[in-house]
Amino acid sequence: MAQPRILILGGGFGGLFTALELDSAGEITLVSEEDHFLFTPMLYEYLSGEVEEWHIAPKFSELLEANVRLIQGRITEIDLASRTVTVDVNNQKLPYDILVLAVGGITNFVGVEGAEQFSLQFRKIADADLLRQRMVAALDRIPPEMPPQDVHREMTFAVVGAGASGCELSTKMADLLVDAFKRRALKGEPRVLVIEMGARVVPGMGDQIREFVDDALRKSHVEVHTETRVVNVTSDGLTFDHQGKQEHLKTAAVVWTGGVKMRPLIENLQVEKSNRGLLLVRPTLQLMSHDNIFALGDVAVYPDASPTLAGTAQLAFQQASLAAKNVNAFVSGSGLQTKHFEELGEAISLGTERAAVLTQGKAFGGALARQARFALYTSRLPTWHHRLKVGASWFFEGTQPRPLLPLGFERK
Ligand SMILES: Cc1cc2nc3c(=O)[nH]c(=O)nc-3n(C[C@H](O)[C@H](O)[C@H](O)COP(=O)(O)OP(=O)(O)OC[C@H]3O[C@@H](n4cnc5c(N)ncnc54)[C@H](O)[C@@H]3O)c2cc1C
Repeated sequence: MAQPRILILGGGFGGLFTALELDSAGEITLVSEEDHFLFTPMLYEYLSGEVEEWHIAPKFSELLEANVRLIQGRITEIDLASRTVTVDVNNQKLPYDILVLAVGGITNFVGVEGAEQFSLQFRKIADADLLRQRMVAALDRIPPEMPPQDVHREMTFAVVGAGASGCELSTKMADLLVDAFKRRALKGEPRVLVIEMGARVVPGMGDQIREFVDDALRKSHVEVHTETRVVNVTSDGLTFDHQGKQEHLKTAAVVWTGGVKMRPLIENLQVEKSNRGLLLVRPTLQLMSHDNIFALGDVAVYPDASPTLAGTAQLAFQQASLAAKNVNAFVSGSGLQTKHFEELGEAISLGTERAAVLTQGKAFGGALARQARFALYTSRLPTWHHRLKVGASWFFEGTQPRPLLPLGFERK
């Protein structure tokens, strides 16, 4: 192919890193609804103010080289027959010769009544901003003389799902709220619950790291409710069921972290899929019946990856390198490669003072793990330039949380 049109859909871990690694294989275009990449593993630190927006959500214009054209807009349709993609900006149709599908997933509310309407999500910068505002607004409503039991009721927050995301988020929220209580001299304690259908927290992780998570949840005073199913979410709380007994809980906010599902954009594609609706790809990342379409990240099932890697940034990031190599090979007519993807280790943030890291079979926690996590994640950020800027900022300016100040004093 002389100058093939390569269209990359999505600017997350899969799409952006593919674009960064593609050399001059053709006319490369990246389409994303956002103007920035998001390093999701640190969205919790953004909520707490330990990191700033520019650290974890750099603009594409600062990351992409001149060989990649950026179109910011929402993709509304992928037409495999005419080889075009429609974007909502001026309803333009973008033709492609090679397509890279990396649009990621969306929150799965698993059909729970009211969940989509009333709970907050936690996937984007705007979600974290909204949650922080809700926490501040709830604090601002508490008069200093309010009795502790009333404060406890008014300052109840529920996080649904005790996977890594739910545990990272709930410990972060609890630590922030406890700190705000001290600063504002409020009586009593805030209440943060994490609600999980399964029998234990972080079900996808090993026992070694679970010990640190259990310990952190205890230290941050997060109430853990396992074997508990959320039945509905309303404007002022949620109802949950534990062993057949239902209880309604009044909350200041419900945050839903309980799972990921496919977007309608992927659901509408008539190609081979798994029973969960994910795109089946060959070991080269090509779709089963389309040599010129590659899929990676959360939308794809890769045959040769450790099962624990499914739906992780780690996998999307590693696949991007293979996708870029194979797109280049496809263009030049050389042989496409395959790769086995291994787990690179776990690093989870637990409250504002701790973290847990699992690397080479060994787990460690505490303040040291928190530092190690920052160091590790500096190395995973996109582009050398951005890594250097962020690394210097964390080293010289520190990574302390930003207290939840009264509304007029909050930044942003
Ligand atoms: C809060 C949070 C924390 C996480 N922490 C970790 C972690 O610690 N470790 C880990 O390994 N994984 C983590 N993950 C999972 C990880 O983020 C995903 O597995 C990873 O981002 C998948 O990469 P992707 O490229 O497939 O999709 P994404 O990174 O989700 O990127 C998809 C991109 O496509 C764009 N897009 C989607 N639809 C459209 C459309 N119609 N039009 C235009 N653009 C569109 C989106 O805006 C987005 O930029 C976390 C996820 C979240 C939400």
